[in-house]
Amino acid sequence: MVRCQEVIDLLMDYLEAELPQSRAAALKAHLDGCSPCLAFLNTYRSTIQVSRQLTVEEIPPELTERLLEFLRRERDPDRKGKKAGAVPNDEPDKARGRRAPECT
Ligand SMILES: [Zn+2]
Repeated sequence: MVRCQEVIDLLMDYLEAELPQSRAAALKAHLDGCSPCLAFLNTYRSTIQVSRQLTVEEIPPELTERLLEFLRRERDPDRKGKKAGAVPNDEPDKARGRRAPECT
């Protein structure tokens, strides 16, 4: 049985027809009974179609950002509660390097 979280993981392989037949069948069975996942598939598929028609420069940064945000939101909820390797930016490091804080 395929769960909603797995659908998201399998979707790319499914659309590239790289999924083993048994997995693809299980995925289809899930999609038949789960309209949120079906809607997600449709969104995903049309996004791929649109992006294939565009060159990289033609995709507005805003769209890319919204897409990534969407995918992140879909993936994150109950899989990993906390992010282990949340890396902020490395600005503090740079500043510290200049001031040599620990060595007086
Ligand atoms: Zn589902």
